[in-house]
Amino acid sequence: MMCYKVSPTQRMRDNESEEDKSAEVDIKPLKSCSFQDREDLKEMMKKWSASKNMKLYFDSKERENIATGIKVSTLFCSNKTKTECKFYVEFRTKGSDNPYYLHTYHNVHNHSLLKYHNSSAIVSEVLEEIKSLLPISNSCTKVAEAINNRFSKNFHPRVIYYQMQKLGELEFEKATDDAQILISLLERDEKEEWILFC
Ligand SMILES: [Zn+2]
Repeated sequence: MMCYKVSPTQRMRDNESEEDKSAEVDIKPLKSCSFQDREDLKEMMKKWSASKNMKLYFDSKERENIATGIKVSTLFCSNKTKTECKFYVEFRTKGSDNPYYLHTYHNVHNHSLLKYHNSSAIVSEVLEEIKSLLPISNSCTKVAEAINNRFSKNFHPRVIYYQMQKLGELEFEKATDDAQILISLLERDEKEEWILFC
């Protein structure tokens, strides 16, 4: 994995709504939820956090109190290291085989929650990376994920898809048959990906 040092000025440029530097998340709906097991918790939190434009991760394996059987699972904001964001949600069971409930939390991010980066953030390094990924994958969702991880961005697959299509058209000029295949793959991809993504 490559690491980039982000200076405060760079971060300002990257972040369109930097004026509002904190974001409070309405946690109320979680308070009335229970989750059957850690897998259920993981799946539901993935959907919930995506709906709030945040990325959360489990800190480690869950902790279990041997004496009480209480299990503790905590999710942190993906910006925990980058901006020292204190956002977290901690879930506990009331015994070893009981569902998980929200136990404690800090529901304020110290950064704004970005929606998606638009195509103005597709700089030449990003474009080069998309180009290098084209022969590996024709799935715009997978390529977007790889790009987002590598460049710490949040591109919607649609934005990546347009870039892939453009690159595909360039190829089209070079080799008609190959490009035609690629374009039809991308068109098929678009239809399939939107079903998966929505
Ligand atoms: Zn955060």
